Amino acid sequence: MRNSVLEINRISKNFDGKVNILSDVTFSLFENEIVGILGPSGSGKSTLLRLIAGLELPDSGIINLNGIDVSGIAPHKRGVGLMFQDLSLFPHLNVFDNIAFGLKMDNWQQADIKNRVDELLSFLRIDHLQARSTDSLSGGESQRVALARALAPNPPLLMLDEPLGSLDRKLRHELLREMKDLIATMGLSVLYVTHDQEEAFSIGERIILLNKGSVEQIDSPIQMITRPGSRFVADFVGTVNMIPVELLDRNNKIFVDGFLGVLELPKEKLVDSYSGDKFTLIISPYSIILGQQTTDSLLGMIKQINVGPGYLEYEILLDSQNILVARQNIGNNSRELKKGDSVPLRFNMDEVELLPW
Ligand code: ADP
Ligand code: MG
Repeated sequence: MRNSVLEINRISKNFDGKVNILSDVTFSLFENEIVGILGPSGSGKSTLLRLIAGLELPDSGIINLNGIDVSGIAPHKRGVGLMFQDLSLFPHLNVFDNIAFGLKMDNWQQADIKNRVDELLSFLRIDHLQARSTDSLSGGESQRVALARALAPNPPLLMLDEPLGSLDRKLRHELLREMKDLIATMGLSVLYVTHDQEEAFSIGERIILLNKGSVEQIDSPIQMITRPGSRFVADFVGTVNMIPVELLDRNNKIFVDGFLGVLELPKEKLVDSYSGDKFTLIISPYSIILGQQTTDSLLGMIKQINVGPGYLEYEILLDSQNILVARQNIGNNSRELKKGDSVPLRFNMDEVELLPW
């Protein structure tokens, strides 16, 4: 069992006139773990970090850092590094002094400060910027300086609030990779806040999905994609092909009925504890097999073709209103399909999910 660095137990927060900004939030962060906190804008992500950092106080609930209840502990004594959403670099200080700021506040020796700042400058490859004023920096440079400042005191817990903000896509990608390396090399425990699903899933070992101040689901990215616990989660992680079905028989074989007609599913797709007969069938776009006519194949028409990074996506019209989305990795030797083509399709039934909502 890994040690937990942070334990949040039933935290709630209201602001004047605004209720349930956070309600009953509970989770843990383990040593050397990166947890992504994901949620739409306004779901309470920044407020959660501010509570952990001690910049706001919860109305109820307990925050434990390394086993200690921090309710009475001032922000700068909590051992938490926070990189703010807007970076909040000090405009009157140069890059070196921005990074050194917290160390001076903690009364580090001059020589130790220089060593630590030099180490971070070189780690983040910004040595050449150390004498620059912060308002002369590019977006990516500012981001590195803010990260170095948060890392400087070697905090047991590092929290990053939308750290890649408004940078362009290529730079985000680059910095995300760098940050992952850095976090692994330094052995940090990290809460990484973002509203961007792709970003959260590429950095977080586990994801906490917030919806209007409540935890919707805590899971690994793969679990969240394959077993979203609710329609909200499914929508948020970009699930396509959510098909409402009715369960016809749960005794011997599993049959469901929906706009795809009656389908037989492997028995283990139905979790015994689910009662009721309304379900959602989720078919991954990669589990749709195109172009093989068999006794159980359906017929669809290619309505639209989209090219994504590494894949071709087909929107397939089944009848006047129902559409399925299928994807094929680019580069396999599958037959190329054109708009308007009729195409037989079937499903890899081992890969579908049957969820009780
Ligand atoms: P996120 O970071 O997920 O976008 P926030 O935590 O910033 O969300 O905000 C959650 C909600 O709390 C929003 O509705 C926001 O307007 C409100 N809020 C945040 N801080 C304050 C505050 N100091 N006073 C009043 N309302 C606030
Ligand atoms: Mg925010």
